[in-house]
Amino acid sequence: MSYSDRMQRNHLYSVLLSPRGAPRMVDQGTQIAQQYLSPFDRLIGLIGDSGSGKSILLKGMFPGLELTNDDEGVNVRPLPIMHQDDTGFFTPHTYHLDIRFEMAFYQPHELADAIRLADERGKRVVIEHFDLIYPYLGMNAHLLIGIGEEIIVTRPSVFGPEPDDIKEVVFASIGNRRMAHTADDLVEYCLIDRRVYHFDHYDVRNGFILSFHEKPQIDLRELEADVKKLIAQDLPISYLDNTHILIGDQRHYCTGPRMHVSSTGEIKDFQLYHEFLTHRITRDSQILGVVNMPEEIVLSELNSLKLMSFAGSESSK
Ligand SMILES: [Zn+2]
Repeated sequence: MSYSDRMQRNHLYSVLLSPRGAPRMVDQGTQIAQQYLSPFDRLIGLIGDSGSGKSILLKGMFPGLELTNDDEGVNVRPLPIMHQDDTGFFTPHTYHLDIRFEMAFYQPHELADAIRLADERGKRVVIEHFDLIYPYLGMNAHLLIGIGEEIIVTRPSVFGPEPDDIKEVVFASIGNRRMAHTADDLVEYCLIDRRVYHFDHYDVRNGFILSFHEKPQIDLRELEADVKKLIAQDLPISYLDNTHILIGDQRHYCTGPRMHVSSTGEIKDFQLYHEFLTHRITRDSQILGVVNMPEEIVLSELNSLKLMSFAGSESSK
């Protein structure tokens, strides 16, 4: 048995917080590939709503893999997996397909047949929206990844988890991620007004962290009040390009432009923690914001294992 199999034999599932923005999502993909992907895995399944970052994660996991469903509308046609020719020198070892997208062109059983054929030939197939093809495929993915507010990484066995279990969790939690990311942008927007430009982003359940090497001289209660004003105005948020959104009519830099609620008023129960936090090792100053949390912030409960249990995640879109 290969080292990766021995290493992963007792792995149930891993949960990571979905990072904000493309560069960190790509990094996360690279790390997942290093830690959880076996060279012998053939079926790689991804589950997550549109805009959740599946394609970006794949760019990190499989650099160079040509995705067949580019968001900019450049699609690889004809779809390579539907025209498998195993006689040539240059047939791909890895195929990619987005089931939701391809269902506009093919019957599900045709896609399932093509995936099975590729699998029999020892090819790797990377499948987005794996949950949609699973009922026709009759076999689970070797590596299955769900993306919502969290990234769930699992290597299913006959005991599960089933794709629908993963789907239920990540589709329920993505609303929180959309709200948190949008609130994060609004805080950033108000910081730019205060001439504060340099900080890093970190993630926490139901919220976000902005981290500063030098503590900015700002009042966090005022900052919170300004963000709440933007929320009360219910400004529309729209995708502008790969690195920008519009907040109302203002252009704002963002590398996750498809991960927002459609207007600021959809952000529920926004709160900013009224004190700066201090990172335990770097001593950097940090601002914490949370969404969808009606009660007061209790720091030690944000990432608690109780919240990590998948029952009862708030569903909102
Ligand atoms: Zn954004």
